Amino acid sequence: MEKTIFHKILAGEISAAIAYEDDEILAFKDIHPKAPTHILFIPKHFVASIADVTPDTAHIPGMLILKAQKFAAEQGISGYKLTFHVGKGGGQEVMYLHLHFLSEEKLKQF
Ligand code: 5GP
Repeated sequence: MEKTIFHKILAGEISAAIAYEDDEILAFKDIHPKAPTHILFIPKHFVASIADVTPDTAHIPGMLILKAQKFAAEQGISGYKLTFHVGKGGGQEVMYLHLHFLSEEKLKQF
């Protein structure tokens, strides 16, 4: 399997503006933000897409959503959009599962 750009960010081979990291996820600023705050949440365990989630990995999308919820609360962001693009037809360009976090509100700290 070819490494995606997000594998390289996770490995530290490509730099990104890291917003949050723990044992399970990495969150970083989207390089082409579509809102004043645009963060991507990725799991450290690789899954290519929501289309590839199985019963064994079904907890991962929920985990990403919970981390995004916690991140928003910590940042004092009250309104935001969460989006998964699924497959090329769904606008997914990077085949590494990621949750888009978009808000018109700015981060209070980064
Ligand atoms: P997708 O369309 O696959 O759901 O979203 C991929 C997102 O990754 C896009 O919003 C794009 O701007 C972002 N992106 C692509 N390459 C890079 C990169 O090298 N660094 C960062 N931080 N974001 C990237």
